[in-house]
Amino acid sequence: MIVSADAGSRGGKPVPYKPLLDEAISLSKYKPEAVLLVDRGMSAMNLVAGRDQLWGNLREKHLRTVVPCEWVDATHPSYTLYTSGTTGKPKGVQRDTGGYCVALAASMKHIYAGNAGETYFSTSDIGWVVGHSYIIYGPLIAGMATIMYEGLPTRPDGGIWWSLVEKYKVTVMFSAPTAVRVLKKQDPALLTKYDLSSLRALFLAGEPLDEPTAQWISAGLGKPIIDNYWQTETGWPILSLCNGVEQAKSKFGSPGKAVYGYDVKLLDDQTGEELVGPNQKGVVAVEGPLPPGCMQTVWRDDERFVNTYWKSVPGKLVYSTFDWGIRDADGYYFILGRTDDVINVAGHRLGTREIEESIAAHPNIAEVAVVGVADQLKGQVAMAFAVLKNPALVTDDASALALEAEVFKLVDKDLGAVARPARVRFVTVLPKTRSGKCLRRAIAAVCEGRDPGDLTTMDDPAALQQIKDLVTP
Ligand code: ATP
Ligand code: MG
Repeated sequence: MIVSADAGSRGGKPVPYKPLLDEAISLSKYKPEAVLLVDRGMSAMNLVAGRDQLWGNLREKHLRTVVPCEWVDATHPSYTLYTSGTTGKPKGVQRDTGGYCVALAASMKHIYAGNAGETYFSTSDIGWVVGHSYIIYGPLIAGMATIMYEGLPTRPDGGIWWSLVEKYKVTVMFSAPTAVRVLKKQDPALLTKYDLSSLRALFLAGEPLDEPTAQWISAGLGKPIIDNYWQTETGWPILSLCNGVEQAKSKFGSPGKAVYGYDVKLLDDQTGEELVGPNQKGVVAVEGPLPPGCMQTVWRDDERFVNTYWKSVPGKLVYSTFDWGIRDADGYYFILGRTDDVINVAGHRLGTREIEESIAAHPNIAEVAVVGVADQLKGQVAMAFAVLKNPALVTDDASALALEAEVFKLVDKDLGAVARPARVRFVTVLPKTRSGKCLRRAIAAVCEGRDPGDLTTMDDPAALQQIKDLVTP
């Protein structure tokens, strides 16, 4: 059976689902016996006789029906969910039932510190792992109410989330850096317009949280900002502060320490050797067995599971996250970006994340993506695409060049001239996946005049077109 609706809503406009669903079913080898549809009154639907049923008619009839629990083994799959497709073709993550419940229940206590009877607000989408774990299962297992919000953080204005916090006395909130960067372009007064006294902390995950963004939201809200690092594959945080276990200080730019249950290691990418000293840069890996809640396998592809995740280090079975990191002397990790995102400029290995962090410190830059582009002379050069906080300050070529020169200076000072991007171009929006992750691989491909590959996970094709127009001579 498939449960769906007539439409969803995006930026105030209905997005009809039913035609998409009918098309998907027509492509599918295994057709559902029944389709249950919620009619939200947003878009007309053609019902298929004998297959499609309207929820409204059935609800009244079954309202008082008691449905017994279906008992399953702890290892029974609870769902499959695809990764975001940031680095390539999405991978189908299969998760168990019992271990996942245990992991989520414990994390609600030890990481998010949410209590029964309170309200949790995750701004994610239930189509993504954060939504599965922390809109639905985690809060409900913990006996909390949960808010499912459909829409943009800027409609009707940039204060909508904070008005919900006030209205429902939210105690724990979970969002993503990409959303905070959107708010950064709005009036900061909206952050203090509402009574946020119920809110204890804002958790952020999904991509690197750069220091300027963390500082901006932390100062604006006057609340602790807790970065946590994880993957669709793990289902819950690998790195975080576990304030429910022991109070720890946040360090801006760091998602914290290894969470209980994860034996996190940093490995040399060439030799696989463990790096034990402070501030050594390696691949973030987890020694098996993974804790409860993590993926069981790649859906219908055990071989891909083993080959993709466990065999990247020669001669050793260890789970690779494919992210770079360092660990400081206090045990705090810093994620330096994806192993794919390292570029080689005239023999120097540079993380694009480090360059982005440096550029993002400019007061008029809201967000930026840096990619490596092939260069005949230097091997690769860095290219930056930035979104402005105040576009009115850059109106012509001269003001764009002046700003570009300011950015060059920042990078030179932080990282040295070798890290200076060949160009900094200004755009109104960056190409992202539907979960808000920057599609650097697509940007790099367009810059090199290559085919950008699988774009099915991309949100807004106009964003990539903008870059194409800029870089095509
Ligand atoms: P795909 O695996 O399909 O390429 P994806 O890796 O973006 O897509 P997700 O599972 O949604 O799919 O994202 C996990 C990745 O997001 C991590 O591996 C890491 O690169 C990044 N990430 C998540 N949280 C953080 C964080 N707090 N700090 C830095 N990076 C993060
Ligand atoms: Mg991934």
